[in-house]
Amino acid sequence: MSNLYSAFGISDALYGYAGALLDGLRPRFDAIDATAEANQAKVLLAMQKNRVDAACFHGSTGYGYDDIGRDTLERVYADVFHTEAALVRPQLVCGTHALAVALSANLLPGDELLSPVGKPYDTLEEVIGIRPSPCSLAEYGVGYRQVDLLPDGGFDWEGIRAAINEKTKLVTIQRSKGYAMRPTLSVARIGELVAFCKSVKPGLLVMVDNCYGEFVEPMEPSDVGADMVVGSLIKNPGGGLAPIGGYIAGTRECVDRCAYRLSAPGLGQEVGASLDVKTSLYQGFFLAPTVTAGALKGAIFAARLYESLGFRVLPDGTESRHDIIQAVELGSPEALVAFCEGIQAAAPVDSYVRPVPAPMPGYDSEVIMAAGAFVQGSSIELSADGPLRAPYSVYFQGGLTWYHAKLGILLSAQKLLDRGLAALPA
Ligand SMILES: *Cc1c(COP(=O)(O)O)cnc(C)c1O
Repeated sequence: MSNLYSAFGISDALYGYAGALLDGLRPRFDAIDATAEANQAKVLLAMQKNRVDAACFHGSTGYGYDDIGRDTLERVYADVFHTEAALVRPQLVCGTHALAVALSANLLPGDELLSPVGKPYDTLEEVIGIRPSPCSLAEYGVGYRQVDLLPDGGFDWEGIRAAINEKTKLVTIQRSKGYAMRPTLSVARIGELVAFCKSVKPGLLVMVDNCYGEFVEPMEPSDVGADMVVGSLIKNPGGGLAPIGGYIAGTRECVDRCAYRLSAPGLGQEVGASLDVKTSLYQGFFLAPTVTAGALKGAIFAARLYESLGFRVLPDGTESRHDIIQAVELGSPEALVAFCEGIQAAAPVDSYVRPVPAPMPGYDSEVIMAAGAFVQGSSIELSADGPLRAPYSVYFQGGLTWYHAKLGILLSAQKLLDRGLAALPA
């Protein structure tokens, strides 16, 4: 086997070193497989209950009236997330769009939005208007408050209580760490936070940005009181096969409003042609529990390897996992670039290109991204990215198969070793 890895430039020394670390991870991998098994059953039951059949895969065009496959897929999502309704559409062009629709559909001028978990994901800063932007919620008179997590990662209960006021309408909770060195929230912790906010102000709506969290645990935030869970189909729930799309699963009232915002008041969920993407959306959702499990194994392996090479990693190699993202604090721009070059060199697509830092819409510093994906920008496929700012953390995620994730991680480490940016312990 090490022969095959050496064809990629991975040394026998690194391969052997990593093999020993992997032996110690077997019990954790078994636990991940058990979660995938439960989630697989959940998806399968939802597909059977809703009588998915070949007619569901026919594309629709034009207005997309009577698109049985689209409507059935939305019921499948709603059943898996245990919600009254779901909107699952290729017209939700990415995760940010789905989140923007969910927020702008459920907040009116004069209302206030509260994030009790610190600064939200970079692209949401412009959606909310934290960074001024045309058409932001702020421009439409929606206020925003934020309560940061405590230094130990805990919730600032008193701060949250004080921030909730007569205008507070919707609470947004980001499950995953995104581009911040903060802990990812477990579904159980999200449940505690939802219950607390609703006890302070009954009737508050809670939306969870579920990006990268789907199928990591046997439960979802909608099982613990969230009114809406929102995510991208080119992350976990698309299983790597969805070529586009986003979802919003939640209460009938919230989802109806989202549908009116997405299409038009009066039209709502009745319109929206699905063209020819439905088979991929179904198949991807079917595979998503397994694909997510592979990505999770990759994340844990990366944590273990980089931690043993002396880097700060978040989460560490032993913590329980609530999303598929692994952050590694690389400490220098050179190491960040080398890591991304390794991930890129391991890709099935575009393996011959070299990623370079560049400005990106929605981000306030240069970003380097490594991705050699079948679906452009898909981050359930093996990918790494990081903003070019201290502490030069790389955020690593994905891998359609565990074996590909393993190879990419080894190749990233090899690049650091080759450039003297890391060394194997003696
Ligand atoms: C990916 C992501 C988003 C949305 O990003 P898109 O690139 O627009 O799909 C939002 N929040 C978090 C935490 C994310 O990881």
